[in-house]
Amino acid sequence: MSRVYNFSAGPAVLPEAVLQQAAAEMLDYQGSGMSVMEMSHRSKTYQKIIDTAEANLRELMGIPDNYKVLFLQGGASQQFAMVPMNLMKNKVADYIITGQWAKKAWQEANLYGQANAVASSADKTFSYIPDCRDLPISENADYVYICENNTIYGTKFWQLPDTKGKPLVADVSSCFLSEPVDVSKYGMLYGGAQKNIGPAGVVIAIIREDLITEDVLPGTPTMLRYKTHADNGSMYNTPPAYGIYICGLVFQWLKQMGGLEAIKAHNVEKAKLLYDYLDSSRLFQGTVEKKDRSLMNVPFITGSAEKDEAFVKAATAAGLLNLKGHRTVGGMRASIYNAMPKAGVEALVRFMENFEKNDP
Ligand SMILES: *Cc1c(COP(=O)(O)O)cnc(C)c1O
Repeated sequence: MSRVYNFSAGPAVLPEAVLQQAAAEMLDYQGSGMSVMEMSHRSKTYQKIIDTAEANLRELMGIPDNYKVLFLQGGASQQFAMVPMNLMKNKVADYIITGQWAKKAWQEANLYGQANAVASSADKTFSYIPDCRDLPISENADYVYICENNTIYGTKFWQLPDTKGKPLVADVSSCFLSEPVDVSKYGMLYGGAQKNIGPAGVVIAIIREDLITEDVLPGTPTMLRYKTHADNGSMYNTPPAYGIYICGLVFQWLKQMGGLEAIKAHNVEKAKLLYDYLDSSRLFQGTVEKKDRSLMNVPFITGSAEKDEAFVKAATAAGLLNLKGHRTVGGMRASIYNAMPKAGVEALVRFMENFEKNDP
């Protein structure tokens, strides 16, 4: 067996210990004689799996009792529609456009009501986070929406916007569980699991209870109402059962690692290795404003498309995979999620140093 260092933005690296446990439990989950994949989601055994997963997530994030945790499907992209369908009571919402995912969410919301772009960093190809301390928040906005960590561009909101009392809705797909958060500052946060938590197919939404109501836009399908899933413990229909099990193993792993404070320290250390090198390199440079740098996704360039391509090719041959930047921006991007070991980032920096040395 040979494992590579996988810098993919998603689906992405998972902790090896989790994969090993899943492998060990594959044929016979804890004496049940079957795999979790083959099990009724209505069985006692499975109920314990999902309950334990939720309890551990609540403990890790310190989720207050007046928030529901929902395990959903449809990817983060389905939330682009579910958020307005469920929360746009006045049919008005304010969006902060810091990249492609925020833009897609904003465009989708415009199918349902008036979604205002109240700030944007499109003028400099999303290389920074706009000042959000005093935005023209709409009087009757139902919520203010952000994409907290911009997976493609490598920026992160280090300070949440002042929403002037409106509920904050955040797509945290690529920074979920990367650091402690104060859940009470959000009306809702959600993310696809395949970036930092588990396999594709699971979306986790954490929503303040008062925002989960029957008062949704007319025509909202039963399956797309938060209330349907909240009232049924995420089991209105068959949930993404195996994916939730893997997420649960990752939550246990995070607890063993010392929780979110400890994982943040680990993430800061890893990101610093890479950013410090980028800041001192003659060949490579980071592409975003330093104050807004993400700990999870690190885009960089050489300034020459040919050299970028040669670098990605050589890195791949050296077992450093998926470093090509997003197809819409080019260059390189190293995604260094929770499960990327420090040794992986060290190997990447060593490889970049050598590549630079051999660059004429
Ligand atoms: C990947 C990603 C998405 C899209 O996720 P899907 O599960 O493919 O729909 C949305 N938002 C962010 C921040 C992402 O990183």
